[in-house]
Amino acid sequence: MTSIPAQRSSAPSSLTQAGASHSGCCPSCGSNRVTALAMTLTDGTPVRFSSCHECEHRTWTHEGDELQFADVIARATKTKV
Ligand SMILES: [Zn+2]
Repeated sequence: MTSIPAQRSSAPSSLTQAGASHSGCCPSCGSNRVTALAMTLTDGTPVRFSSCHECEHRTWTHEGDELQFADVIARATKTKV
């Protein structure tokens, strides 16, 4: 006869969903169907590219700051000296 310990494990199974890592909401339509991926521009600037599946709004952010599309293009086409 095997003695099974009746003691319940104190595993932290109650994880809060508040801290779940999510891509965030679309700043345009508020949808949470946003895909975010990290990429590096031609000039070496690491940016995060977010694309909304609902309205196709696209956003580039660098260290939390939103980049203007023209700025991204300017950086992407920047010629290294
Ligand atoms: Zn959207």
